[in-house]
Amino acid sequence: MRFRFNIEGLHCANCASKIERAIRKEDGIAYASLDFTRMVLTVRSDMDEGEVLSIIQPIADRIEPGTVFVPEGSDVEEGSHRWEIIRTASCTVVFLIAFLIEMFGDVDHGVLSIVFLAVFVAAGAETIVDAFRGILRGDVFGESFLMSVATIGAVIIGQYAEAAAVMVLFSIGELIEDYAVGSSRRRISAFSDMTPKLVHLEKDGTVTDVAPNDVKVGDIIVIRPGERVPLDGTVIDGTTELDTSALTGESVPVSVTSEYQVLSGSLNTTGTIRIEVTKDYEDSTLSHIMELMESAGERKAQSERFITRFARAYTPTVCALALLVAVIPIALGMDAETWIYRALTFLVLSCPCALVISVPMTIMSGIGCASSNGILVKGGNYLEMLSQIDTMAFDKTGTITNGRFSVVGTESFDDDLLARTIVSLESHSNHPIAKAICGHFPQYDSVVSDIREIPGKGMEGVVDGTKAYAGNASFMRDLGHRVDDPEGRTSVHVVLGDRYLGHVELMDVPKDEARRTVEEVRALGVRKVTMLTGDKDSVARRFSEDLSLDAYVADMLPQDKLTAIESLISDANGVTAFVGDGINDGPTLRRADLGISMGQMGSDTAMEASDIIIAGGDLSRIPLAMRISRRTMRILKQNIVLSLGIKVGILVLTLLGLSEMWGAVIGDVGACMLAILNSLRALRV
Ligand code: ADP
Ligand code: MG
Repeated sequence: MRFRFNIEGLHCANCASKIERAIRKEDGIAYASLDFTRMVLTVRSDMDEGEVLSIIQPIADRIEPGTVFVPEGSDVEEGSHRWEIIRTASCTVVFLIAFLIEMFGDVDHGVLSIVFLAVFVAAGAETIVDAFRGILRGDVFGESFLMSVATIGAVIIGQYAEAAAVMVLFSIGELIEDYAVGSSRRRISAFSDMTPKLVHLEKDGTVTDVAPNDVKVGDIIVIRPGERVPLDGTVIDGTTELDTSALTGESVPVSVTSEYQVLSGSLNTTGTIRIEVTKDYEDSTLSHIMELMESAGERKAQSERFITRFARAYTPTVCALALLVAVIPIALGMDAETWIYRALTFLVLSCPCALVISVPMTIMSGIGCASSNGILVKGGNYLEMLSQIDTMAFDKTGTITNGRFSVVGTESFDDDLLARTIVSLESHSNHPIAKAICGHFPQYDSVVSDIREIPGKGMEGVVDGTKAYAGNASFMRDLGHRVDDPEGRTSVHVVLGDRYLGHVELMDVPKDEARRTVEEVRALGVRKVTMLTGDKDSVARRFSEDLSLDAYVADMLPQDKLTAIESLISDANGVTAFVGDGINDGPTLRRADLGISMGQMGSDTAMEASDIIIAGGDLSRIPLAMRISRRTMRILKQNIVLSLGIKVGILVLTLLGLSEMWGAVIGDVGACMLAILNSLRALRV
C-alpha cells in the first residue's frame, strides 16, 4: 500500500534527507520518498498506516525532534502554530513598550534590562534549547546555535535590548517564513498534485467516502463532474466527457459510456459515471505519475547540488570571519566591545537559509509549471539539462510524423495475391506501417502461422502453407531479391515462396508543428538538429530538406540508433537529447543524456525509459519545456545573487559599523522572503 504523510516541524533540508535514508533502511518499508518542498512523505509498505507511523515517527524524533508525520486527510495541524503566534506577538508588544520607555521615558535602567532579558528568554528559549540539541547531535553550525551564540554574546556585553530585539525579530521572521514557505508549498502542490484525497465507494447501494488505498479491484466507485478519476477502471454506467490532457496532451474531450476503460488522472467534466475498479490505487496510472513527480526532488540539479555544498562551506567561513573580526581589531588595540558586537552580528548572518530554501523551491516550481503544461520532468537535473541542449536527435516515425502512414499505390502483377499476403502478415504487427496497410486493404481469412517481426526490416511467416515475407528493400536483399525501390516513398515489398510479388508504397508527412519546432529549438540555442530513422535514405532526405535539419541518418536498425546517439554525444558541446515516441526507442532514450518521449503518460515504456515525458504527440511542447527550463534557471540565478548579495552587503555594512544586529536580522529575513516569492514566479511561463 502507498501512504502519504504531511510533515510538520521539519525545517532543515539536510535532516530531511537523513530521515528519508533512515526510513528506507527500515524492514518492511519498500519505498520512501520525502519531498521537502511539498512537505510530503510517501511510503510504500505492506503494513498498515498505524504500524508505518510507529516506525517512522521515532526516526524523526531521533534525527530532528519536533518533526511530526500526519497521515494525509487527518487535520490536526496549526495547534502549535497558534501558540507560537501568541508568544511572538506578546513578546513583540512587551519589547516595543520597553523600547519606547527607554527612548522617551524616565525609568531605571536596571528595571528595563530585566524586562529586556525576560523578553529575550521568552522569545528565544526555544531557539536556545534547540541549539543545545544541535550540539548534542554534533551540529555546531546550525541556525539556532549561531543565533544563540550571537544573542547570548550580546547579553554578555550588556546589549540586552539588542539581544531581545534580535530574538523577537528572529521569531517573527521564522513565522513569516513558515507561512510563506507553507503557502508556496500549497501553490506548487496545487499545480502538480493530482492525488485524490477521497473516493466515493459504492457498497450495497450506499455511497461512502474512503481513502483511495481502501478501494479494491472489483469495487464500484462513483465519479462526479469536476472530479479527477482516482483509479483505473471500466465504466459500468453513465456518460460523460473526460479531459485527458494530463495523460495524453489531447485537449479535445473524450466522450465515454459503458465499457469504456478510463485511466486515472483524467478529469471528469460533464456527467456522473460509475466505474468498476480494475487496478489497485498503487498500480493505477495516476499513482505511477505521482510517484515520479514526488521522486523528482531526489534527482537534484547540478546547481542545487552546488548550492548545498556551498551552503555547507558558507557557514563555517562566516563564523571564521566573525572570529577574525573579533580577534584582529582587539589585538590591534581597538575597542573590544565594538568589535565583539560586530563579530556577533556576523554570526546572525551566517545561516544560508534563503539559498537553501529557495533553490529547491524554484526547481520544484519549474517542474510544477512543466507538469501543468503536460510535460512530466522526472528530476531537477533533467529540468536543468533542458536549458543546455546542444544536439537534438529526433526519431522519425511517430515523433516527427504522427505515425499515420497512408498507402499511395501498389505495383505488382497480381494485386489480389499481394494484398492477401501482405495483410495476412501485417495484421500481426503493431508498426504504424502495418496499421496503414491493414486499414487500406480488405481483411482475408488466410491461415497464418510462425509469424515473426524483424525490427527495422519487416515481417515473416507462413501464409496458407507458403513461407512469406513483407518488408523493406534491405530485407529483400537479405533474402536474395534485388528490387526497384521507389524514390522518396516508404515501400513494403512482398515475397511469397521464392516469388517476388511486388510492393506497396506509403507516405507519411511531418506533423504540422514540426517545422516551427525545429526553428524554435534552434533559436533556443540548439546547435545541431538531426533525425534518426529506420526508413530509407530517399525518404529521410525528403524530410530533412522539408524541415531544414542539419543532418539525418537513414536505414537504421533499432540497435544502430544507439551507436548513433553515442557518436552524437561524443561530438556535442553540451547535452545530447533524443526525442522518441517511446515505443521501440527505449534503449536510445536511456542512452541519451536527456531522453524525451512523446507518449501517453502512464504508458510503461515512456515512463521507464525517458527522463521527460511529453503528454501526447505535440512537438511544440519541446521548445516550451526548454523555455520553462531557461526561465527557472534564470530565476534560480536571481535568487542566488539576491540572497548572497544582500548577505555580503550587510556583512560589509557591519564591518563599517553601519548595521546593527537587528538590522542584519531584518535584511536576512527579507532576503529569504524575496527569494521565496521570486521562486514562485517559475510556476508560470
Ligand atoms: P523508425 O526509425 O522510422 O521509427 P522503424 O525502426 O520502426 O522506423 O522501422 C524501419 C523500417 O523497417 C521501416 O521504414 C520499414 O521499412 C521496415 N519495417 C519495420 N517494421 C515493419 C513491418 N511490420 N512491416 C513492414 N516494414 C517494416
Ligand atoms: Mg519509431
